Amino acid sequence: MSDRITKLVRNNIRNVKPYSSARDEFSGEAKVFLDANENSLGSPTTKWYNRYPDPYQHKVKEAISKVKSISAEHIFLGNGSDECIDLLYRCFCEPRKDNVIICPPTYGMYEVSASINDIGLRKAPLTPEFQLDLGAIESLVDSNTKIIWICSPNNPTGNSLRYEDIAMLLNNFEGLVVVDEAYINFSRQRSLLAEIDEYPNLVILQTFSKAWGLAALRLGMAFASPEIVEWLNKIKPPYNINQATQELGLKALEETGQVNDMIREIVAMREELANVFYRMPLVQHVYPSDANFLLVKVREAATVYQYLLSKGIVVRDRSKVQLCEGCLRITIGTEAENTLLVDAMIDYMKTSVPAN
Ligand SMILES: *Cc1c(COP(=O)(O)O)cnc(C)c1O
Repeated sequence: MSDRITKLVRNNIRNVKPYSSARDEFSGEAKVFLDANENSLGSPTTKWYNRYPDPYQHKVKEAISKVKSISAEHIFLGNGSDECIDLLYRCFCEPRKDNVIICPPTYGMYEVSASINDIGLRKAPLTPEFQLDLGAIESLVDSNTKIIWICSPNNPTGNSLRYEDIAMLLNNFEGLVVVDEAYINFSRQRSLLAEIDEYPNLVILQTFSKAWGLAALRLGMAFASPEIVEWLNKIKPPYNINQATQELGLKALEETGQVNDMIREIVAMREELANVFYRMPLVQHVYPSDANFLLVKVREAATVYQYLLSKGIVVRDRSKVQLCEGCLRITIGTEAENTLLVDAMIDYMKTSVPAN
């Protein structure tokens, strides 16, 4: 165990003796399992769900390891990335004492999870170009700063953050730098995954909820040093990834071809839609996107939002968010859905924008 990571872990967590499940105490081959108080007769709908799932998801991790070219001991799985975010707080941040830094506008869960865990939250807003403000971050760091949350490609702005800036933080910050790569599959920039062994303080989050098309499964990945993975394993709920999710996740991992086809299609539609928006008088700016959504600045954003709603189309109103004033965040839909959206915006312009 390196001193560096151990020093970052909360005192009480260092002394936690993890729950030892029946599957922890015996995991070999046997004929008769009478150790976990399961229902040995079966389940009402299918034979297979009466047994507790593998607490460490070995098969899923083996498959992820092959797809991502990273060894299984670098992988932690959460009930969505959201569970990984919460566990990182619980593992490393002392309530009412430690603090973390976020770079808004960004994903809301870093802040929600900090409040739930009673962890200090410091904000170093992105620059107007939506890049990291390294000076602002540096001025917020103190000896109790445990985590800097970086989201790249960033939600809701859609852009990737400069690699050199993230590397600067990784090289100079003592605590953890968590890089949330939920949208990495749609990005022109490559993942930091290949560099996981270069930086002992790097944690990368990815998810099955976006490119993999499996938001309902709740399966999130954290990639980090084996040591950080071990700490997270120590504090996670024993069976945090259910059997159905493990099975379906495993199936999806055999279909990388299909997933890559969807990614290509979504990226192509994103560029097409960006071009259409760009030519609309209603639209003031289309921000470059490395994700599966577009941030679009429009005239009268709140009114456009309501108009689209009245047509049964829901987008995300980000018009009150700092640095996103007047913006809507629009997820790329199917070809047909995108057409409905564009037609609705054209209708809006006909009814609302006086010709001049
Ligand atoms: C959608 C999203 C996630 C995904 O969270 P899950 O809990 O895995 O569904 C994570 N981070 C960001 C920035 C997101 O936008």
